[in-house]
Amino acid sequence: MQECGAKCVAFNIQPAGLESCLRNRFPDSGSQLLGFNQVPKVTFPSEPDYAKVKHTYGGSMYPAVVIYVEDEDEVIDVLKCAYDNGYQVSARGRGHQYQGLSTMHGHVIIDMSLTCNPDEFVIDRSSAGNHILPGQKYIATMKAQAGCSTAVITAAVHENFDPVEGALSILGGCPSVGLIGFVLGGGSGDTTPWMGWATDIATEFDVVLYNGTKVVASKHENPDLFWALRGGGGGFGVVTALTQKVVQGPTPLDPSSDRKYTWVNVPFDTSTPEKLDKFLITFQDFMYEFDPVKSGKFGGGANINTNDAKLYGLYLGSWKEFVLDWTEAGLLDPDILIQENGSLWENYQVKCSNAEPCDVDGFPSFGKMDLKEFDTYGESMAYKLCNSGAGVSSFRGTRRSSDVCADLGIDAKYCSPIPDSDNNKVDCTPDKEIYDATLAKMLDPESYINHLGGDFETPTDSMYGGIVFTKLEHETIVDLAKIGFRVFHFQHGAPMHVAKEDAALPWRDTAILTQFKAAERDFRYEIMSRLAQDAAYGGDVDNLQGYYNYMFPGRDTNWEKFYFDENYHELKQIRGKYDPLDRFGKPFYVDSTPEAKTKKSSKKKSKKRSMTVV
Ligand SMILES: Cc1cc2nc3c(=O)[nH]c(=O)nc-3n(C[C@H](O)[C@H](O)[C@H](O)COP(=O)(O)OP(=O)(O)OC[C@H]3O[C@@H](n4cnc5c(N)ncnc54)[C@H](O)[C@@H]3O)c2cc1C
Repeated sequence: MQECGAKCVAFNIQPAGLESCLRNRFPDSGSQLLGFNQVPKVTFPSEPDYAKVKHTYGGSMYPAVVIYVEDEDEVIDVLKCAYDNGYQVSARGRGHQYQGLSTMHGHVIIDMSLTCNPDEFVIDRSSAGNHILPGQKYIATMKAQAGCSTAVITAAVHENFDPVEGALSILGGCPSVGLIGFVLGGGSGDTTPWMGWATDIATEFDVVLYNGTKVVASKHENPDLFWALRGGGGGFGVVTALTQKVVQGPTPLDPSSDRKYTWVNVPFDTSTPEKLDKFLITFQDFMYEFDPVKSGKFGGGANINTNDAKLYGLYLGSWKEFVLDWTEAGLLDPDILIQENGSLWENYQVKCSNAEPCDVDGFPSFGKMDLKEFDTYGESMAYKLCNSGAGVSSFRGTRRSSDVCADLGIDAKYCSPIPDSDNNKVDCTPDKEIYDATLAKMLDPESYINHLGGDFETPTDSMYGGIVFTKLEHETIVDLAKIGFRVFHFQHGAPMHVAKEDAALPWRDTAILTQFKAAERDFRYEIMSRLAQDAAYGGDVDNLQGYYNYMFPGRDTNWEKFYFDENYHELKQIRGKYDPLDRFGKPFYVDSTPEAKTKKSSKKKSKKRSMTVV
């Protein structure tokens, strides 16, 4: 490859040169169709499969060519073809970027999905140590190829670690969310309050730079690149592999008992001003003030309004430990719980349902709560996928067929028809067969579970945007409840105890992530303008804190601060160093033109919290 200096910035593109370079490199590119999508290795716009390979979550994009690479050498060769012919490049993981930017117009798209091979993951048990919060440990590291989804990682952890080890992963809300895009923008899931953002468990990246040079980014090698890759959004190179910590779950209160994992769903009564006040005070105290080693065992989401509120998600412990922790936190106060019967799964049996009072020792006789206890983290996550879309669907967001029992290869007795539809759904009963089959599909990178589809395939309201926020004044959160808001993920606990300067991800004082659909413009505006009036934001919407992985559609003013805060300036230096010719440049990537090395201070200084980082 020839160095061409600053003149390359003009991108003197040569379509014929690009085509001939790629045809020479991949002479049989059309002879075999690859993967779940059955696509050719290389597809140009004039070819019949172009519509299929350019399809994105965020709408129609028109890339110059899409190449499904299968290893790192192919990444290097494609980068060389692009470079020599003046093209910009976008790496694509699993294609979930909400605005379709991984399939950028005019770019050469390097699709990494076929590189994922769980048989070749490298698990290093000699690499172990303390994690973020006091007493936390990671028990190994696991290296995976860049094309994997977060579901493959979760299933591989389940497959390779004994249940007594209590190994965890971070699974995206949709199982097929790509590993690298997730980490580049932050990465939050149900275990984030215990483990940190996905950026906080990354230990090493293998990267190919714009000119085909291979580098490693870790705490010890290219630490500036390592810092930038953890939350800096992307554009530094093509990541080909990622090594992550395998963090251990909490030790059971009685260390001689087996580890358990409990799905919880607790509705609260917020129908009077007194109950609403009590709930919101207790809720914010739990998020921001309660012992993070205890609160961090719970992660998930919430719906909060002035009629009722619901907290739901995964608790890393037994249902009995859950009752103890949440009673101590004040969240199981009879005054604020909905007074109906609860339900319980224990030892893979339905111990009681909502139909009558639950006569199980230790199960609260007051207040509705649905608790489902599992023996392994993997099974609890498989339950989540089974139950996703419960009532109207199951395995929501996956490329399921109309018969999901057939997709999973399980007995049809587990499925029932969905009314007014040709589809069936899995009745998520406590039968291990369902969860074992789900985990087997999660482990297969080319299964339907690892491909976005179904109700998410061509979404009409796909353009989400997300905001994270800090502890609010009581009046503010009451007003938000009056508007009604949803929490998509929590980041209390461990993520708030990592130093702000540890990674490019800027927000370390925010426990709550809310998200909006494109169709919800007025709602979004209402929430944002009320939030901005809180003392934390000083009356200025420009001080709000955005979540890069939930990118706003068309937010083009002040996005640098919204997503990266003061880290933007450092990121710009690093982009300039590793991608000096802007080969990976595209909208909402940090600009690669280096600037004078003076850090501008942001208007809103983040609150510094105590930290323990390994
Ligand atoms: C249905 C759905 C559910 C989601 N749920 C969650 C959730 O629970 N939690 C959460 O935090 N986020 C969630 N997200 C957001 C998700 O984290 C981001 O969209 C993330 O970017 C997806 O990664 P990807 O590889 O699938 O995306 P892609 O669109 O493939 O890539 C995203 C960005 O990363 C870059 N990139 C990808 N791979 C590489 C690579 N190998 N090297 C260099 N750059 C690369 C791309 O160029 C692009 O800029 C969800 C998104 C969707 C659509």
